[in-house]
Amino acid sequence: MIDFSVEPEFQAKLDWMDNFVREECETMDLLFPEMGTPYDTSHRPSRNHLKPLQEQVKAQGLWACHLGPNLGGPGYGQVKLALMNEIIGRSNWAPTVFGTAAPDTGNAEILALFGTPEQKQKYLDPLMRQEIVSCFSMTEPQGGADPGEFVCKAWREGDEWVIEGEKWFSSNARYAAFCLVIAVTDPEAKLTERMSMFIVPTDTPGFEIIRNVAIAGEGDPEDGAQCHVRYNKVRVPLDYMLGNPGEGFKVAQARLGGGRIHHAMRTVGKCQRFIDMMLERAVSRRTKGRMLGDHQLVQAKIADSIIELEQFRCMVLKTAWIIDEIEAGRMPHGASRNHIGMCKVAMANVYGNICGRALEIHGSLGISLDMPLAQAFGGYMSLAFADGPTDVHRSQLARAYLRKATPAPGMFPTEHIPTRLAEALKRYPNARENWS
Ligand SMILES: Cc1cc2nc3c(=O)[nH]c(=O)nc-3n(C[C@H](O)[C@H](O)[C@H](O)COP(=O)(O)OP(=O)(O)OC[C@H]3O[C@@H](n4cnc5c(N)ncnc54)[C@H](O)[C@@H]3O)c2cc1C
Repeated sequence: MIDFSVEPEFQAKLDWMDNFVREECETMDLLFPEMGTPYDTSHRPSRNHLKPLQEQVKAQGLWACHLGPNLGGPGYGQVKLALMNEIIGRSNWAPTVFGTAAPDTGNAEILALFGTPEQKQKYLDPLMRQEIVSCFSMTEPQGGADPGEFVCKAWREGDEWVIEGEKWFSSNARYAAFCLVIAVTDPEAKLTERMSMFIVPTDTPGFEIIRNVAIAGEGDPEDGAQCHVRYNKVRVPLDYMLGNPGEGFKVAQARLGGGRIHHAMRTVGKCQRFIDMMLERAVSRRTKGRMLGDHQLVQAKIADSIIELEQFRCMVLKTAWIIDEIEAGRMPHGASRNHIGMCKVAMANVYGNICGRALEIHGSLGISLDMPLAQAFGGYMSLAFADGPTDVHRSQLARAYLRKATPAPGMFPTEHIPTRLAEALKRYPNARENWS
């Protein structure tokens, strides 16, 4: 039975969140707009403002909702999380206020699943309390996120692992207490068994930030959060490998799926905010003697945006439902992979389309930094690249379906009308007689 209703008790929580995010988190966006600040634990003014808000979230039982009870969170499940993340997605600061900021969310999952009890105490617990932030260090400057091109390597020397190589777009490494680093440990092994995952505390000798690369929306090209990092023969104890040797790929997959769908959930909220702005502007501004909303091309933009968002939201909710079914043991492991890929691809396109239309409807005001739209539009291609480029996900999705496809049995496709008609006439030879 398909049911789109929300229980009243949970709706009350969503209502609380909606009000809180608009009143408090969006206010933080205005007071502390710099993109990296939510991750900068040394930024005293924002941290002072943040703490009491986080306490309110905890008091509501809404802290770290992405984690199940076995991993230290309340465990609402993915469908409810989707509804919550839609609200959280409205604000840049809200994920930090609610203890669900990427990449800490995924990194916390990895530590909870693969860390030793001591590592959990040292890294996971303070991460969960947001006393520290973390970094996921996988992409390499020469080979992007294609594991087949990775050259950052690690080898064993005595009772230590030694890591050498470069990574970039290691988001927030400059603020992080530790990085989760994926490095090649067996170059001869098949691709999925070639790499291993390590915890590298950022105060380890040999950890070096070459540059703090900035992206669109950040002011200073040298003061961004996408760090280019060099691991200069960094040494970590043997048990700082997460999972077994060669399991880096498997460990990384444990976080990437969740990360992608959480981004998609938050994107629904961002797009809804763009539509709200679009609608307000359309009924506020006149041109050629009529409201903007009375012009058909503006109406088309609004309608297309509403339809695209509704389609995307349904896709995200269905994907969330599939993940919950897997968790409950009613669907096999991996059943959500294609749907997560669909959400990943659709996310950037829907966001770019809707944000772009909202900006266009606002004209010069839209492209100015007096509105949040131009800055938001800069994030469009970031969504398309982070966690793997759109094209790679499109290709993977198509190949997954192509693998299941069956070649036509004869010269013509199975939908070839003359062939099918001949079959039908074999079954009902007299059907086309006596037309009148
Ligand atoms: C804001 C942001 C934050 C990020 N944070 C992190 C992070 O915290 N940690 C981390 O490790 N990485 C991070 N990344 C990096 C991200 O994972 C990579 O940008 C992404 O995986 C693609 O790598 P690339 O940018 O080198 O692009 P490339 O791999 O060079 O791809 C460029 C283009 O080539 C084409 N292409 C590439 N591969 C294929 C293929 N297989 N089939 C068809 N076409 C293809 C596509 O058109 C693609 O867009 C982040 C990126 C961004 C933008």
